[in-house]
Amino acid sequence: MKIFILTIFPDIFKDTLNFSILKRAKEKGKVDYRIINIRDFALDKHKTTDDIPYGGLEGMVMKVEPIFNALEKIKEDIDENSKTKILLLSASGKKLTQEKLRIYSQMDNIILICGRYEGVDERVINFVDEEISIGDYVLSGGEFPAMVLIEGIVRLIPDVLGNKQSIENESFNNGLLDYPQYTRPREFKGYIVPEVLLSGNHEEIKKWRRRQAIKKTYLNRPDLLDNINLTEEEKKILDEIKKGDKNE
Ligand code: SAM
Repeated sequence: MKIFILTIFPDIFKDTLNFSILKRAKEKGKVDYRIINIRDFALDKHKTTDDIPYGGLEGMVMKVEPIFNALEKIKEDIDENSKTKILLLSASGKKLTQEKLRIYSQMDNIILICGRYEGVDERVINFVDEEISIGDYVLSGGEFPAMVLIEGIVRLIPDVLGNKQSIENESFNNGLLDYPQYTRPREFKGYIVPEVLLSGNHEEIKKWRRRQAIKKTYLNRPDLLDNINLTEEEKKILDEIKKGDKNE
């Protein structure tokens, strides 16, 4: 996969892409990062990428032409039959989900456009596939949101992560949040690892984990439960959790 990042702050990505899984994925040839400075596509000698907003008010807006020109240049670089998504990072975009990340991880090319200032000229949306928000809050630029997408996408590319099962079991993948995890020591400041995890009884451990995943989802993200088909048994578990069952 090729990931193209359009930004006016290319230096932000130099170190951040060069660690851990993102670095290993590149070394394995699974992904190639191309950082593109939008300024290089500005039309004037001052390399202007922003201008005052029509209609007044404060702040600056990123101009459409440099972004369009950068996109045109990228298109020269990619096979027109390959699968490509052009994504504009925007606080007012559709919210990023694990399902969207899964779809993006199957692309040949991802193109990420990072806004700054008051955002980008609205006409940019005519040249992108989706506007994506990483959550209901406003950051100063699209660079860190782009990093969030890159982290989320690259780890889903086949053979990037060592353990395929760890992806299958994690939060959002089966509709529930992840169950609690523990490692050594067995006791820390009086807090002990649940006995069942030490039992070696895999059936019981599986049941406990499912129950805990339901509990965590109910406590932290009850909205997710509306979209899950729980078995009759699991519905009973949920009712017990709601009643504050002391055996948790
Ligand atoms: N005026 C915009 C608004 O109220 O929606 C905010 C612009 S923000 C200060 C500048 C840039 O940061 C945006 O163009 C976008 O690229 C990025 N950004 C900020 N918050 C974001 C979010 N939650 N998700 C994705 N991108 C975001």
